[in-house]
Amino acid sequence: MIINIPKGTKDIVPSESYKWQWIEKRFRETAAKYGYREFRTPIFEHTELFARGIGDTTDVVQKEMYTFEIAERSLTLKPEGTAGVARSYIENKMSGEPLPGKYFYITPCFRYEKMQKGRQRQFHQFGIECFGSKNMMADAEVIAMGWDVLTGLGITGLSLRINSIGCPNCRKEYRKALQDFLRPNYDKFCDTCKGRFEKNPMRILDCKSPECQKYVQGAPRMLDYLCDECKDAFEDLKSNLDAMGIPYEVDPGIVRGLDYYTKTAFEFVSSDLGAQSTVCGGGRYDHLVEELGGPDTPAVGFGMGIERLLLILEAKGIEIPKPEGADVFIATMGDRAKKEGLKLVVDLRKKGLSVVTDVMERGLKAQLKYADRSGAAYTVVIGDDELDKGVVALRDMKNSTQKEVKIESLFEEISGQGK
Ligand code: ATP
Ligand code: MG
Repeated sequence: MIINIPKGTKDIVPSESYKWQWIEKRFRETAAKYGYREFRTPIFEHTELFARGIGDTTDVVQKEMYTFEIAERSLTLKPEGTAGVARSYIENKMSGEPLPGKYFYITPCFRYEKMQKGRQRQFHQFGIECFGSKNMMADAEVIAMGWDVLTGLGITGLSLRINSIGCPNCRKEYRKALQDFLRPNYDKFCDTCKGRFEKNPMRILDCKSPECQKYVQGAPRMLDYLCDECKDAFEDLKSNLDAMGIPYEVDPGIVRGLDYYTKTAFEFVSSDLGAQSTVCGGGRYDHLVEELGGPDTPAVGFGMGIERLLLILEAKGIEIPKPEGADVFIATMGDRAKKEGLKLVVDLRKKGLSVVTDVMERGLKAQLKYADRSGAAYTVVIGDDELDKGVVALRDMKNSTQKEVKIESLFEEISGQGK
């Protein structure tokens, strides 16, 4: 019986992987431009990390985690990238390093969600975290980098939506107002939201059930309840974005699906994505590091979905350059030529060329056909006659020209001719 790929996952086959490599290269280049360094944390962590970090009334923690037990330990595949970075930051005492700590990651994430276009169970994120600054300069820079990545890939028509979701201080009053608003319809909410009503009513705003969505329409908005500090911060953020020339819209409806956010929340939305329109989401999380047992560390970051990014590129017809074939294919005729060919393969690879040769025992014609189809820039043909003269036939595949070249000068010929 054939075993298929699990639902919600996708293979990145070689005819697609070059796109990923190209995008990841661009991420790395942009990260370097902003002084961000790479963080690689494990694919699984103690379940407790996500329950505490992301919040145990969130959809992610309540419904979507891939949790398993092994040797009486509960472990979870990472549903997002920030909690692991924060854990490692604390564990490796990185608060002792010069601040801000600026980190990026490229990682698979796992969430048991209903599959839709742009929504998978294993997906990939590029994310950044800036640890140590409570200044809105940091928020503006993080947003600027998201903007830079997306527009740098040639993506137009994006909208940046920003909001402030306040801090534990101003949320107290908001929470009351929200509960007052939701209370009359308490019975109509799903069981999960009923459970959230006391613990974390803001999470109800983010529930995906259409029934719950109906009864949150017109709910009070955090933006109207901000304390002076949060209000000033939001004004500050807007003026920083203005100064950087980054266009935005204030969207009081942005809540974000993870509990750790405070103050700034933002999303980059694309009309090319359909229902799953957010390609990048982020914000400030001033209490996460402390919550996880570390020192008081204000922080801000974003996570960008790579699958959704690819969907936008495809919808916009933005082509990612295809990788080139080998520099040279070595075709041989006869046993003696085969052995000489092998020597040449080794020699040219040592000198830095990418070299492919026949390992299928094909006839010359089939070898040349393969060379052509594989996109090799040059083909070298070695036969007994050529060997006697110490030469090979060098064929430029692009121009369809051929000439005799001495074996000793083959490398110079190939590397010197515009490769
Ligand atoms: P959504 O509202 O689409 O569920 P989210 O708020 O859960 O997104 P975050 O946790 O902020 O998303 O993750 C950041 C980004 O990761 C999203 O903007 C999206 O591009 C991507 N992402 C999140 N979940 C998925 C998924 N299941 N499949 C593919 N990409 C995803
Ligand atoms: Mg989600």
